[in-house]
This record gives sequence, C-alpha cells and structure tokens, in this order.
Amino acid sequence: MKRYMKGLIVSTLLASLMVAGCGGSQQAAPAGDKAKSVIGVAIYKFDDTFMTGVRNAISKAAEGKAQVDIVDSQNSQPTQNDKVDLFVTKKVNALAINPVDRTAASVIIDKAKKANTPVVFFNREPLPEDMKKWDKVYYVGAKAEESGTISGKLIVDYWKAHPEMDKNKDGVLQYVMLKGEPGHQDAELRTKFSVKAVEDAGIKVQKVAEDTGMWDRVKGQEKMAAFLAANGDKIEAVFANNDDMALGAIEALKAKGYFKDGKFMPVVGVDATAPALKALEDGTLLGTVLNDANNQGKATFNIAHVLAQGQTPSKDNTGFDIVDGKYVWVAYKKITKENANEAK
Ligand code: BGC
Ligand code: CA
Repeated sequence: MKRYMKGLIVSTLLASLMVAGCGGSQQAAPAGDKAKSVIGVAIYKFDDTFMTGVRNAISKAAEGKAQVDIVDSQNSQPTQNDKVDLFVTKKVNALAINPVDRTAASVIIDKAKKANTPVVFFNREPLPEDMKKWDKVYYVGAKAEESGTISGKLIVDYWKAHPEMDKNKDGVLQYVMLKGEPGHQDAELRTKFSVKAVEDAGIKVQKVAEDTGMWDRVKGQEKMAAFLAANGDKIEAVFANNDDMALGAIEALKAKGYFKDGKFMPVVGVDATAPALKALEDGTLLGTVLNDANNQGKATFNIAHVLAQGQTPSKDNTGFDIVDGKYVWVAYKKITKENANEAK
C-alpha cells in the first residue's frame, strides 16, 4: 500500500512537472518575458493523509503557471531547515513552508528575509510575533477553534436526538479525546473548543481519558484500544482531532463488537478525507468537519505565485481575502452522511 502510494505520488509529481514543462514550450515567450517562476515547497512529512491532499492541490494549482519543487521534510525540523537552505541557494522565487515545528518559523523567516525570498506558511501557524518579523510573510490556514466548535455540535445534536447515548443515565456525557500533535494549534484548539461547544449547549461533561494519537491512524487505534481496555463501559462518545485517528478508533471499536447488532459509539473527526467519507457512508463515523485541502493548497500557491512575481497579494490577484495583510482563512464546514457529497 505504502509503495503504491509512493509510486502514485512520484508519478503525480512527474506528471505535474511535465505539464509545467509543456506549458512553457507550447507558447513562445515574448522577447524579454520573465522565465517561469520557481516555488520551493516543503511539507512537514509526506506520510500524512490530509497534507497529501494539500500537496496535490498545490501541484494542480501550479499547472501551466509556475514550477513547484515539493520536498518531504520527513517530520524533522533540521531536515526542513536544510531543504530551505537548498531552495535559497537555488534562488527560488518564493517559498511555501508547512513547518514541522511551528515555533521554528522564526528561523525560516530569518533565512528568507536575508535572501529576500518571500515565504508563505501553511497548515501550521507561526506565532504572531514571528509573523510580524517581515512584510513578505504570509499564512494560509483555517481557524482551528471553528473546527472544534463544529465537532462539538455534532455530538450535541446526537446527544439530544438519542437519549440512549447516556449509557449510565447520569445526565453527564462521558467522553474520550484523541488529540493531535501537542503544540499544533489544531490539536490544542480543537480539543478545547469541541468540549466547550458541548458545555455551552448546557450538557455536563466528564473526560474519561485523553491521549495523543499524533494525527496517526495506527496510533489512534492503539490509544482507543487502551481506553477501551481500561474504561470500556464508561465511554459514551469519542472525539478525534482528525479523521485518521477517528478511523483508527473505529477499528478498535469494531474489534470490541461495535457497529453491529445495534452496538454503536458516536465518533467524530475532522478533515473529511476520502476514507472518512466512506466511513460516514458505512454508518461508523458519526460526523466530520471539512478541512478544505483544495482551497488551502490553491491559496498557498496563488499567494506564493504572486509574491514570486514581485507583486503584493490581494483579493484581485489571488482570489482570496487577505486578512490583516498576511492571513488567508479557509472556512470549515460540518459534514455528515446527509451532505457528504459537498466534501468531495
Ligand atoms: C489536519 C491533520 C493533519 C495536520 C498536519 C491538520 O489540520 O487536520 O489531519 O495531520 O493538519 O499538520
Ligand atoms: Ca453518562
């Protein structure tokens, strides 16, 4: 499976490079026209379901417009810093960086500023003080608290419509939380705001267990299996900060006889990845939140492309609202079985 994915990624990359190459040779460039710009893109790690979607969206947006050189930082900040140095040496026209550690953005900004190479961060939000270090620094992402609130509301709706969800009839919602990578804004804020949305709806909550599954499906499954072994009968709902961990949790629940013979557990995730939409269809995943990889990839490319040409990004030249001169916020959306087609 992994090898297949890698093959697919390599061929997708080759195809997009070829397309980019062809575009240039088809139209004879008018004399004095600037050569196609090159954008250096670093992803925190290729082996991440959601980031693969963003990466593909960047390649697609670049077709025929610019050359994107996309590299894998392999979940190592030192590796990413080396890749950035290489991009700077190659004199790319702009950088698009998905940091491994968002607090490392500061170092990357210093490198970019020194070389006068504009930089767009995406998915992992640099600290506000770092964003202010230079005017050619941008961020494309989504408001993490919004996704937390939406996943909380999915559970509230279910609780209200299904009184049997309160298994021990104590009027309190006993839940477990599968958290993403600690320190990541999406992990911290989704965890906080999902629970807050339930409390704000007037429902008392009790946390049975919380652990990090590091955004990973296998880790999500292992952590959920441990929660079930320790406190199986107490758990009334599962919050996961992303779909991969939610799908892992569903595997662990299936192993304990859930999702058949009337045994159900409400599980919510975030992202609306293809396998998550399939799980909605199957009736295992209760709901998710569309984390719009297509528009995040497109906005990242469009801003980097405008910057690469020495222009200032605006709604007119990127198609996206630029907030506070630096930020693009792509909206989240509640997804259930009923509107799953809106996430495709
Ligand atoms: C996504 C996760 C992903 C993470 C990577 C989050 O926005 O929801 O699925 O693993 O970004 O940084
Ligand atoms: Ca209860």
